[in-house]
Amino acid sequence: MQFILAKRAGFCSGVKKAFQITEDASQSGSRWSTLGPLVHNHDVVRYFQARGIATVESLPDIAEGGVIIRSHGVTPAILVEAKEKDIPVLDATCPLVKRVQELAELLSNEGYDIIIFGDRKHPEVRGLLGWCAEKATVVANLEEACSYPNVKRLGIISQTTKDEQEFFRIAAHLLPKAQEVRVFNTTCAATRQRQEAARELSREVDLMLVIGDRNSSNTKTLVQECQQTGVRTLWIQSAADIEAQEFSEVSKVGITAGASTPDWIIKEVLNKMAEFEVGALQEQNQVNQEQENQLLENNAPEENFARMEAEMADLASPNRGDIVKGIVIQVTDDEVMVDVGGKSEGIIPLREMSFKDVHSAKDLVEIGDELEVLVLKWDDDGTILLSKKKVDSKRAMDKLEEDFKEGRLVDGTIVGSVKGGLLVDVGVVAFLPASHVEDGYVKDLDEYIGKNFKFNIIEFNRHKKRGSQIVLSRKQLVEGERTKQKEEFWAKIEEGQTVKGRVKRIVDYGAFIDLGGFEGLLHVSEMDHVRVSHPSAILKEGDEIDVYILALDRDKQRVSLSRKKLLKSPWEIVVEKYKEGDIIDGKVVRIAPFGAFVEIEPGVDGLVHISQLANRRVEKPQDVVSVNQPVKVKILSIDTQEKRIGLSIKEVVAEAEQDEVQEFLEKQDQEVLEPDSKAILPQTEDF
Ligand code: SF4
Repeated sequence: MQFILAKRAGFCSGVKKAFQITEDASQSGSRWSTLGPLVHNHDVVRYFQARGIATVESLPDIAEGGVIIRSHGVTPAILVEAKEKDIPVLDATCPLVKRVQELAELLSNEGYDIIIFGDRKHPEVRGLLGWCAEKATVVANLEEACSYPNVKRLGIISQTTKDEQEFFRIAAHLLPKAQEVRVFNTTCAATRQRQEAARELSREVDLMLVIGDRNSSNTKTLVQECQQTGVRTLWIQSAADIEAQEFSEVSKVGITAGASTPDWIIKEVLNKMAEFEVGALQEQNQVNQEQENQLLENNAPEENFARMEAEMADLASPNRGDIVKGIVIQVTDDEVMVDVGGKSEGIIPLREMSFKDVHSAKDLVEIGDELEVLVLKWDDDGTILLSKKKVDSKRAMDKLEEDFKEGRLVDGTIVGSVKGGLLVDVGVVAFLPASHVEDGYVKDLDEYIGKNFKFNIIEFNRHKKRGSQIVLSRKQLVEGERTKQKEEFWAKIEEGQTVKGRVKRIVDYGAFIDLGGFEGLLHVSEMDHVRVSHPSAILKEGDEIDVYILALDRDKQRVSLSRKKLLKSPWEIVVEKYKEGDIIDGKVVRIAPFGAFVEIEPGVDGLVHISQLANRRVEKPQDVVSVNQPVKVKILSIDTQEKRIGLSIKEVVAEAEQDEVQEFLEKQDQEVLEPDSKAILPQTEDF
């Protein structure tokens, strides 16, 4: 008969740690009690009882000495009670359980309804309930999860020793039951590894022996895992439970053990099995070999736990220079605490979070986020100093190097200016020389800060010690874009079209208008129907205007524009506004021997012939009017064909005189019809 020990079996690192703390306490000379059995294993409990470590059910049971908190952890109320009663505490809570407690507290503080996948009576779950103010619902299986009602915000965690796959199924089922769901996979890697190893081994053997206490949750899960593969599975607590008849017709036996099963019990089981038949222990891996050697050395149960501590393979701590993944378990303004799966937590100081200027780590990450970090060093207190910035930077540099080699464009944001150019965030900070910002001279580089563009990498050297390792350019891209726009422009532009443009540059003789890919000239003479003293009198840079395509020279690539063409001419305005016989205001603008020219609209003058200047004979027009003199004129004629307007001052005066006479006569008539009574009545004193 062949015996095969699973790759992972027996004490997990959390239990080893608790065991070591209790072992040390037993040798301290003080009295200590564990709150509940240290682990779910009678032999271990008996082992410590023999060394003076009592087991109590509650703090009031402790008459003397301190309390050891086992790896399952306790509620915060118990810690407070111990403090109030001045009971010294040795906290052997497994770091992984501590993390779940923190998550439970966080979810509770943030107002989530909480579901814990676990066994209601398990000490770890009882402790967790205390960390979320006893408000969580414990579900033992998928069926119980199904009956959970719909809620608004739901947080889901698991007892560490529960089956991960079952946890996923439960979480998936609960997802539609709330608007917001936060799921933390808090199943323990050590448990998972034991389960995987047991499953793997179950498929190779005729019978599986699972060693562990009946109260051990993780042992129970191991048994279920083995049974699910279809292999016959025996759950034994010690060598005493082995019966020879179980092994008749069995050629291969797989052996595994729960996380609370000490090595000496595993060894006793192996010895008992060897009594049935001399079996060959098959080595599966180095860990297994070491474990077997240890067992076969026939050491006492209290074997070298310092060595076991060093072998905390389940929770192997990362080394300096390693890049590892971790889960954010705490965030303050100045640092982020990350669980990187080691014995100690890792800390990322704010300066190592990002190469950008950030005021608080809370702006970058939140609890539960998974991060990739670089192990910088171990502090004296065992804290691991980590950097996220360096990993981000390395990843970004790797990608940029590939982009550079493949000639790919990269996206970036301009974040600042320095002497000679701009700084660009492309995952790391790169340099954009001023001469490569556009395809021509750029007056104000600061205008580009905050804008996003695509860039060519024209230089990449990650080993460069001085200057920028990455140099970018937009020049070629801008040139290419302009050429394309130019081609599109010439393909669709025609004389006589009206297009929109933006005033780009004003010069003395006109303005250059950007027509979207090409510039045209709007000469000052084409700006308005009236004389324009300077282009800046009516336009300014940046104005958007409609322009008429006056002429195109495709060979010389010149575009002449007109604005005037799109405006009404003064003559059109006059025709619309006035008619013959109207008396209007004007201004004498020029005097000729034959009369005076009067401006009636900007750009439109009419003629008051000398004969129309006054109702008497006029020798010279200047005897009657002078330049700039405002006058009232009557429109005698409008010749739309010749664009001539005949005006008269004489008729205005005559009409005014006539009006005056008429008014006088009307007044006189009124006086006759209503004579003054005093004038015709006799004086009183005549009678
Ligand atoms: S099973 Fe995992 S969580 Fe539980 S004590 Fe061991 S290492 Fe810690």
